[in-house]
Amino acid sequence: MAKAASVTPMMQQYQKIKDQYPDAFLFYRIGDFYELFNDDAIKGSQLLELTLTARSKNADNPIPMCGVPHHAAQSYIDILVDHGYKVAICEQMEDPKKAVGMVKRAVIQLVTPGTKMDVKIGEAKSNNYLAAVVPAEGKYGLAYADLSTGEFKVTTLSNRFTLQNELGALGSREIVVPDGLSADDQKLLGQGERLLSRADAVVSAEASYVSQDLTDALQVQVVSMLMQYLLTTQKRSLAHIQKAVAYEPAEYLEMDQDARTNLDIIKNSRTGRKGDTLLAVLDRTKTAMGGRLMKQWLDRPLLDLAAIADRQNQVQTLLDHYFERSELQDRLTKVYDLERLAGRVAFGTVNGRDLIQLQTSLDQVPAIQEILAKLDDGSFTPLLKAMDPVHDVAGLIRRAIEPEPPISITDGGVIMRGYDKQLDEYRDAQANSKQWIADLEASEREKTGIHNLRIRYNKVFGYYIEVTNSNLDKVPEDRYERKQTLTNAERFTTPELKAKESTILEAEERATGLEYDLFQKIRDEVKKEIGRLQKLASQIAGLDVLQSFAVVAEDNHYVRPTMHAGSHDLTIHGGRHPVVEQVLGEAKYIPNDVIMDSKTDILLITGPNMSGKSTYMRQLALTVIMAQAGSFVPAADASLPIFDQIFTRIGAADDLANGQSTFMVEMLEANAALSHATASSLILFDEIGRGTATYDGMALAQAIIEYLHDHVHAKTLFSTHYHELTALADSLDKLENVHVGAVEENGNLVFLHKMMPGPADKSYGIHVAKLAGLPSSLLDRADKILTHLEDTAPDHAAQPDAKAAAQEAQLSLFPTEPVKPKANPVIKKLEKFDLMAATPMDAMNLLYDLQKQL
Ligand code: ADP
Repeated sequence: MAKAASVTPMMQQYQKIKDQYPDAFLFYRIGDFYELFNDDAIKGSQLLELTLTARSKNADNPIPMCGVPHHAAQSYIDILVDHGYKVAICEQMEDPKKAVGMVKRAVIQLVTPGTKMDVKIGEAKSNNYLAAVVPAEGKYGLAYADLSTGEFKVTTLSNRFTLQNELGALGSREIVVPDGLSADDQKLLGQGERLLSRADAVVSAEASYVSQDLTDALQVQVVSMLMQYLLTTQKRSLAHIQKAVAYEPAEYLEMDQDARTNLDIIKNSRTGRKGDTLLAVLDRTKTAMGGRLMKQWLDRPLLDLAAIADRQNQVQTLLDHYFERSELQDRLTKVYDLERLAGRVAFGTVNGRDLIQLQTSLDQVPAIQEILAKLDDGSFTPLLKAMDPVHDVAGLIRRAIEPEPPISITDGGVIMRGYDKQLDEYRDAQANSKQWIADLEASEREKTGIHNLRIRYNKVFGYYIEVTNSNLDKVPEDRYERKQTLTNAERFTTPELKAKESTILEAEERATGLEYDLFQKIRDEVKKEIGRLQKLASQIAGLDVLQSFAVVAEDNHYVRPTMHAGSHDLTIHGGRHPVVEQVLGEAKYIPNDVIMDSKTDILLITGPNMSGKSTYMRQLALTVIMAQAGSFVPAADASLPIFDQIFTRIGAADDLANGQSTFMVEMLEANAALSHATASSLILFDEIGRGTATYDGMALAQAIIEYLHDHVHAKTLFSTHYHELTALADSLDKLENVHVGAVEENGNLVFLHKMMPGPADKSYGIHVAKLAGLPSSLLDRADKILTHLEDTAPDHAAQPDAKAAAQEAQLSLFPTEPVKPKANPVIKKLEKFDLMAATPMDAMNLLYDLQKQL
């Protein structure tokens, strides 16, 4: 029987380190491999599809183990981090050959979802924000940073609602939190599989990252907590992280999370297609930085008229100067990701190629400045004046780095000739020696008469003279020393060659060592200028977004909206949905007006399903967002007020997945709008109330409209299939009815997708039934019933008092003819049915039952 394994010193060391990182996979370096042990190995082998083996296989308690080669580790680390895990990278801190006893090891970096630096293809235009939240008496301090770009922001949020919105906008996958979170906060922050990582919320030395303008204690606390987490996980200088800048969410057009999803600004959760988003339509940026900024501008449209006008002026200028614009685009195409390059400089992961990319990017700046100088209408003057091309850094790299350097910075070949005298001397020595070898080859051929004699080099055997078997008899045995035998050749050396070899190798070693030192010095020089590089990066990003707006405005025929702050009047003629029109083609899209002057706060939209109601509503919201982001808009002309917030209740696609009933979600979203909206807000309510029984839903819908009308005064688009609600126009003077037009053509009902004044025709349903081919006798009967209903139905809607309306609706909506509700078993069954507790299958079964009883 095998002896019980005593714990080896190595496993003791492993355990000690692992204990410090219980929630991370520990990648433990042994030679050329990173090994995972125990539970890490079991779980890791599944996630990474690695073979699970064991250490001390024959012992009673073999230790599960799996490993990855160190040169391929990055992709494995990425997989784990993308799954939401943390990975602690533990390196050998000394040369195993020189170590006395156990090799020292230490964790050099903890990679987490929020601190992942390596940007995959296709992700360059996204930020990876790590957030930190500290709750304090109902308020929340929120900070966020992108480790790869150095962006760092902080704010105070006055309630959970705004916190949720901000986190939604950031899309963080990891949030740093202090100890002792309430269960409610934990639930809110942990939503959507976000990883909560703990750090101490004490103000520490990292407060040096806090700019002096930051005086709010809560903000200082959350900033230092985030910084502390970054420093303890990354364990290195983070010079590129900017001092945290404070902002107010109320400086921007606020949107709740539902609005962001419902409007498909960045993502389209319904079609899942990347192209079906506002971002995809507007993003013609040429740089990764521009792409990220475009996203930020769409996420945070402006409120300040002057700032919006500045952007519009710049877009107009670029629109008017086609030639300069295309020159600018050409230049931008050659600008690499300056922000992330700066980040890598600070992080110490930059290589020669990165520096060349940096230089190439900087080389575009003088040309960009020239182009801007030609746009002489003044809109770019402030930018032009503020632009610093960071010539010194470009010059340093041009002098120091080879134009096509290797990826590795430790094998030489990175530093230009002429940059450093000493290095040139070493290289000369190397070159001379190589010439010497070439000469030796020639002279040995001559001396021995072996024409194919070669002098070669490999890493294991160094320099050698190779002679093929057929010429072995000509080898001068007295001078040549045998080194290695191959099948068809022998390799030799001579004392002379050996001596030269050691000088060559020494010079090479010195040269590469010196190159590495020089490279690090250059990197440190560049590091000092990171602030300037970041500033330039943001200027170029801005320029890129503006040119993108200009291109899209031209290609898609957008116009510059007139913006005003004094009134809430809104006029759009010939408005289009920016995304749907791309999908359908501009020619097929039917433009629509939206007119909401001071006499109209609410448009009540009626019309059949699939006629274009929600498209119309989304179209308005997207136009507002585009306008306040500084873009031109899809319309013939548009005059818009500045909106402060957008609220939406559209569709219910994935609400059920969250375990809440559609209706509850509807009510929660309605409540968010009712309690936070102001007279400057925009509200879109699509079919509110449809998630519950008809009368309930209709009563609530009416009460909500009345409340909005009397108390909120926000511009509201409200679509409904409760035709009865159209009567509200009589009692609510700021409510207008509009409907989607349809015509019958050769017995077909054709939706015109055109908004028209007034309520929709009631009998659409019957038209549709006709189209579906229902028997004509049945349709005639339905027509009669409808007329009867219209004649006898009390005017239950448009009650000034919502409660009374609701009661009335519940009690007497159905006239006594043609069905007696109470007596009808079908109605009874329907009444008893608990909709909220039912599954779709239950509903189907019920329908089946009911149908049988008809
Ligand atoms: P509803 O909300 O009334 O059910 P939608 O707004 O979802 O209808 O529109 C249904 C479909 O009609 C959309 O997918 C779109 O293809 C088309 N549509 C909507 N508005 C227009 C328009 N103005 N011009 C052309 N097609 C439109």
